[in-house]
Amino acid sequence: MDYDSRTELYQQMILEHNKKPRNFHKIENATHTAEGYNPLCGDHINIYLQLKNDSIIDDISFIGDGCAISKASASMMTTALKGKTIEEANVLFDQFHKLIKGELVPERDKNALGKLTTFTGIWHFPARVKCASLCWHTMKGALNQVVKPVSTE
Ligand code: ZN
Repeated sequence: MDYDSRTELYQQMILEHNKKPRNFHKIENATHTAEGYNPLCGDHINIYLQLKNDSIIDDISFIGDGCAISKASASMMTTALKGKTIEEANVLFDQFHKLIKGELVPERDKNALGKLTTFTGIWHFPARVKCASLCWHTMKGALNQVVKPVSTE
């Protein structure tokens, strides 16, 4: 895929997920939860996880306020992680971080990112990288049972 069509796909995806975020609700009987905050942009998010046998993400959701990128990223992350094991979630966490820092090139490097590769190129905009990664850090905080709010700063 060339750069222009990828950029266009990225913009469409952000708009679409921002308008209709997936898994945008609170899980009342969540087994793990965490709150995340990105002071640079004002993004604020709560992640809810329902783990099965302490190893499988049976359900995942989020609520919060923020820019289109933070919301779209959370929406796509919850879609990608539902049904995955914690191990798989950690692999995706690492791969997504390399992707948004420009260290992983989807065409070159083996990865399991799927649709998440549409965030390729966001590393050109360092402030936006924090918007895109906030939900992932918060998810990790929830898995680690962090009780105090997660901050990107
Ligand atoms: Zn933001």
